[in-house]
Amino acid sequence: MTALRGLLRGNAAVNTRTAGRWISSVAAESGFSFPASQARKGVAPRRDPGSRNVQWVFLGCPGVGKGTYASRLSRLLGVPHIATGDLVRDELAATSPLSKQLTEIVNRGHLVSDEIIIDLLSKRLEDGVAKGESGFILDGFPRTRRQAEILDGVTEIELVVNLKLREDVLLAKCLGRRICSQCGGNFNVASIDIKGENGRPGIAMPPLLPPEHCMSKLITRADDTEDVVKERLRLYHELSQPVEEFYRIRGKLLEFDLPGGIPESWPKLLRALNLDDHNEKQSAAA
Ligand SMILES: [Zn+2]
Repeated sequence: MTALRGLLRGNAAVNTRTAGRWISSVAAESGFSFPASQARKGVAPRRDPGSRNVQWVFLGCPGVGKGTYASRLSRLLGVPHIATGDLVRDELAATSPLSKQLTEIVNRGHLVSDEIIIDLLSKRLEDGVAKGESGFILDGFPRTRRQAEILDGVTEIELVVNLKLREDVLLAKCLGRRICSQCGGNFNVASIDIKGENGRPGIAMPPLLPPEHCMSKLITRADDTEDVVKERLRLYHELSQPVEEFYRIRGKLLEFDLPGGIPESWPKLLRALNLDDHNEKQSAAA
């Protein structure tokens, strides 16, 4: 396995078939077995205590709060939250043949290839297994249909949660983002309060205001303009629709419309994931 990993690390054109077999064997050794019948209907199976941990993917457009929900759930379930953006950042900070290659790619302004991302992810999963981790929640991957196909050969995905928010709310949220130029804190000045109409539920999301001392130092990111945000969302949908379709036809896609901010959305999300018992146990223990 070490030799194969060396091969993977040293070779930019990673043979994903080999990587797939390799991870499958890692998975088999660690008891990551997957009952194929479980997630066919795109609903989270009710899990027995002590059963193998979840292998989930979180999808959602920029600004939807995907990272927040994925990280909360990973803490609740005791599984790692693996964000591919973090993997790339960590590798850039490391010293390895791959980090050199990656630095060149990023400096030239090129996109990091599917092969490199899969390589980083395979390494992360392997390291996790070695540390005794079980299960994962992936965030930011797969981003394209091709990545979804590659991932399919690497490990078994049980459920894909697609977090969605009305486009007008999303736009308002993105345009309301502010950063404190002094402490770097992230805030949001958008105050969303849309009344329900024509059977469509209303939605309210309070702003996330900064403390007094940050108030006068707030800045807006240069790329948070209406045109840029709309273009970012359009691009996201163009790439993600085939990914959603890939999982939909496999019966693994769970669509979740966020009903508001975290206080409204979190309990409903847990219910949709069949984790409401889990949450009660957690709060009883806390
Ligand atoms: Zn501040």
